[in-house]
Amino acid sequence: LAVQTDRKTQIVNVTEKVRQACRKLGVSEGILLVSVRHTTCAVCVNEDEAGLRHDFERLGETLLNPFRGNDGYHHDRIDDNAQAHLTSILLGHSSTLPLKDGQPVLGTWQSILLLEMDGPRPRTLDLAAIGD
Ligand code: ZN
Repeated sequence: LAVQTDRKTQIVNVTEKVRQACRKLGVSEGILLVSVRHTTCAVCVNEDEAGLRHDFERLGETLLNPFRGNDGYHHDRIDDNAQAHLTSILLGHSSTLPLKDGQPVLGTWQSILLLEMDGPRPRTLDLAAIGD
């Protein structure tokens, strides 16, 4: 799945894209993996709410600042995005969900979210399913 982000730090709700893609996977009951191919973004399942999106953007920009140290992050000498890489490591590049009737099982307030930390960029999500 292709996702274009448009800000440095951003939450993109990809639930509907994933639901549409699941119709083509041909697995009714099983396990769905949603994985992102990149090293400066993440995937999670959480609530898509405006205040929380704002809070995430602030978290993404500040979470690892205390660990920068006196000489900064070494990776910043290459492309100045160490904090995005490190946040991606903490949040993880994939989520696993149960599949029922060919669709991911989500709670009322749960959405599948792409967490951008070094945008804007084109991003690619992969889906894999096993079951039946
Ligand atoms: Zn980098």
